[in-house]
Amino acid sequence: CGIVGYIGGKAAAPILVEGLKKLEYRGYDSAGVAVMEAGKIEVRKAKGKLAVLEGRLSYCDFGSQIGIGHTRWATHGKPSDENSHPHQDCQGDFAVVHNGIVENFQSLKEDLIAKGHTFKSETDTEVLAHLVETFYEGDLEAAVHKVVGVIEGSYAMAFLCRLEPEKIVAVRKDSPLVVGLGDGEYFLASDIPAILAHTRRTYILNDGEMAVLTAEGAVIKKAGSGEVIAKEVFEVKWD
Ligand code: GLU
Repeated sequence: CGIVGYIGGKAAAPILVEGLKKLEYRGYDSAGVAVMEAGKIEVRKAKGKLAVLEGRLSYCDFGSQIGIGHTRWATHGKPSDENSHPHQDCQGDFAVVHNGIVENFQSLKEDLIAKGHTFKSETDTEVLAHLVETFYEGDLEAAVHKVVGVIEGSYAMAFLCRLEPEKIVAVRKDSPLVVGLGDGEYFLASDIPAILAHTRRTYILNDGEMAVLTAEGAVIKKAGSGEVIAKEVFEVKWD
């Protein structure tokens, strides 16, 4: 299982899929990507090998230069197209990819259903998309801080928001996450091999750290407070 993200000047979808291929060694049963295309979040996902996802993408003329991707190792809900990530809120304004387990998803899901949310999957992850929608008041980062405040468990996760189309917000706890620093382009991945074709300059996130990626740069903050962290660049020396 793995997550990837890209923002920069190139088409995102092929970069995301190539990155996911480099994470295949982690194992997976399904895969998907979300890109920001013409003011909308477009999601393509599929049970099975990355080749199945590639087949679904081959019909798309996505020029989008921002997106997130995922390979899933199912923990809650069988491997299926519906249970594959990315997951979205009811309106399709947000997309999320997640590695790990939201331990308290059942009670969160019941609360959300009572508030009128409808769920499309059997995953623990889908609550993240509905929670971010609930907390959103015009600031994706602030909403993700609130999501982190109510969930228990492990996560490396990344969010896209239709209303802030030039930003990826990611955060981790007990699941790995690295940021790749390119020249006017920034990458996100569960592990270094997924970004090594693009850059050797990285930030290795620690638990409780959030990465905010825009085309202008990558800023690391403390999850919860948003305090900026002066993160050291880790230069990868091996191949
Ligand atoms: N718990 C999530 C699911 O079952 C994420 C699994 C993963 O880490 O790939 O969908």
